[in-house]
Amino acid sequence: MLLAVDTLDFGEDEPKAGQSSQPGLGQTSLDVSSTVVADSPLLRSLNPEQVAAVTTDANRLCIIAGAGSGKTRVLTHRIAYRSQIEAIDPRRVLALTFTRKAASELTRRLRQLGLRDDVSAGTFHGVAYAQLRARAAETGRREPQLLERKVGFVAKLISRGDERTQAFDVVTEIEWAKARLISPQKYVDAIRAAGRQPNVDPQHVANLFADYEEKKQRMGLVDFDDLLGLTASELRRDRRWGEAQRWRFRHLFVDEFQDVNPLQFALLKSWLSSEADLCVVGDPRQAIYAWNGADSGYITKFGEHFANSQTLTLRRNHRSSPQILAAAEAVLDPSMSDLEPLIATRNPGPTPTITAYATDLEEAAGVARAVRDARRPGDTWSNQAILTRTNGQLARFEVALRASSIPFRTRAGSDFLERPEVKKLFEGLAQAPSLRIAITDLELELEVADDAYSGQDDIGPGSDVGSGTAGPVDADDLDRHTTIGILVEMAREFLVLDPDGPGSRFAGWLHTAVGSDRSGSITDAVELSTFHAAKGLEWPVVHVAGLEAGYVPLAFAKTHEALLEERNLLHVAVTRAERVLSCSWAQRRTFKSSASDREPSPYLDELARAAVVSASDTIDLRESAQGPQEQLANLRARRAAAAGDEANQSASSVASLSDRRREAVEQWREKRAAGSSVTPAAILSDEHIDALVAAMPTSVEDLIEAGLPPVKANRFGESILQALTLATPARTR
Ligand code: ATP
Ligand code: MG
Repeated sequence: MLLAVDTLDFGEDEPKAGQSSQPGLGQTSLDVSSTVVADSPLLRSLNPEQVAAVTTDANRLCIIAGAGSGKTRVLTHRIAYRSQIEAIDPRRVLALTFTRKAASELTRRLRQLGLRDDVSAGTFHGVAYAQLRARAAETGRREPQLLERKVGFVAKLISRGDERTQAFDVVTEIEWAKARLISPQKYVDAIRAAGRQPNVDPQHVANLFADYEEKKQRMGLVDFDDLLGLTASELRRDRRWGEAQRWRFRHLFVDEFQDVNPLQFALLKSWLSSEADLCVVGDPRQAIYAWNGADSGYITKFGEHFANSQTLTLRRNHRSSPQILAAAEAVLDPSMSDLEPLIATRNPGPTPTITAYATDLEEAAGVARAVRDARRPGDTWSNQAILTRTNGQLARFEVALRASSIPFRTRAGSDFLERPEVKKLFEGLAQAPSLRIAITDLELELEVADDAYSGQDDIGPGSDVGSGTAGPVDADDLDRHTTIGILVEMAREFLVLDPDGPGSRFAGWLHTAVGSDRSGSITDAVELSTFHAAKGLEWPVVHVAGLEAGYVPLAFAKTHEALLEERNLLHVAVTRAERVLSCSWAQRRTFKSSASDREPSPYLDELARAAVVSASDTIDLRESAQGPQEQLANLRARRAAAAGDEANQSASSVASLSDRRREAVEQWREKRAAGSSVTPAAILSDEHIDALVAAMPTSVEDLIEAGLPPVKANRFGESILQALTLATPARTR
């Protein structure tokens, strides 16, 4: 089927103003036919490496590249381009990814390219479930019934007297095994080989796992993972049906391929006929699902899995400012440095900021203020996102944004009052004759459990988590307690207003104070998301909040592997930002009923240093005569030198904060004066410098207030502020 090229709508996929997608830059040796480029508008908005990736004929193609390098753009453009030249039929394309959100993002981008509803895009689970249902309808069999309450189901398998075995732990183990294609019989050997130490005796898990499979089958139920395994075996078992499916989808594309686990990989192989083509894109630096069995080896060793394959890379980042890119690179584990860093193509932007707030409440209010301040005239709220490591951390920001009348949307749709744990408690409280007594009981209960959460660096029973992995399963536990704590706090707030109020009145008050979930209907809203759910997405302004040890990395992350993934997660969060990145953390945070002192995330120093250095060393690829590699080498050398300088400075502790700030402004003045061939005093008098250093200004208005003439403040304000910020250690900002 030939696409009508005239109807292609590039929408926001077109290069943005001030953004370079310079085909001439750092010419690659890739063979790209110029007639191809000239012929297709689809290729005009791509850089040469992207054009090569879109136009290559390879039928086993792997693209490994960093965040914001255009992997998803290449994937969607490749589908559109190959449809346009009739190399593929878009109705036979299956575009796969891992979350529903990511699948709808893919669909949105494909629509922008004029592919409307031709292409099928979905998650592995979604496609498998649809195939199984269609199969059941064809054969007159019953549709697979999904087992939804796994923990409850497993709880019934555990004998009554056995209080030590938690159903939740057993389910975690079952999921761990199934993602890796491990049967109950092989479970014990497999965990030994993996060095995994579950909370429950391994043989006991293996027995419960076998009972679980047997009972599930007997009742005609399937769990989420079975959907994948069943589809794969059905495709093999029934050759004719299998062939029909493989014919139906004979062009397979997978986004975020670093997240594929053995079970999904096995299904992918069952979907793939020898004539079919496969294109995968991904980034091992964004591998964040190892806890779920994902194995980034499938992408890094693609050639070993598929003979005669081609692997390409993309080296330019088209999303983030050079400062943000440098910050993102700095938080990665050193083992990731094998992979070539990206080259920034966007214009320099403001230096990322790090703000330490006294408490978590102040952080939430401060971030809400920052959201409002960052909104420039004509901007939409949806230009901004607040990202946190865990879902529970978002609750504070929901409350603060509501209080500031800023519209927001939660990515998971889990609005505060809609969370199951909050809902359940809330229903209980609403019926309490005396809210005061009910709340006191609840606080006492929370205090008992507090012991496990007391240490600032150990906010969860992480030391007991033998696996050392740190997926959302662990984080959820933490989340539950945080959200419950917030509910208790709000009840206290209500009791100040209405000391003897019954629970029913509290319920009414809370609904008006917090509001009900209207987020779904709001179109222009600030996005609230966890790091996990933000993958693949981007916003001009990103606030990464709650950056404390215990959250980033999560307290449960103990092993090297888990810590590496925590760094990847922060990398994912930071690389969502295009222009502005503000990071924050709180020195004191309330968990349930008690507050504890917090330390900043250990990765913040690296982030701050890299961002600051990069701010004075931004690469402007369009103006420089140097090749990208040369520029990169220079940038690295300058970073290394600056890192050394910084170490010397802190060792001798000579320069006081105001000396450093004065020096920074003086240096800026020198540079500016030299550039304009005037004396430094003509740019800024010494008196003005004195006033600025003393005033700690943060805006152009502050500069005017400190005595700088408005003409100068408007002309030089932003760069003076930048110089002052650079000279201020991250933690005092
Ligand atoms: P992630 O790893 O975060 O999923 P990605 O590699 O998939 O990122 P994209 O989302 O495809 O990157 O692209 C990042 C941004 O850069 C998008 O806004 C995209 O439209 C833009 N972009 C990509 N390539 C170009 C280009 N050649 N010219 C202009 N903009 C581009
Ligand atoms: Mg992408």
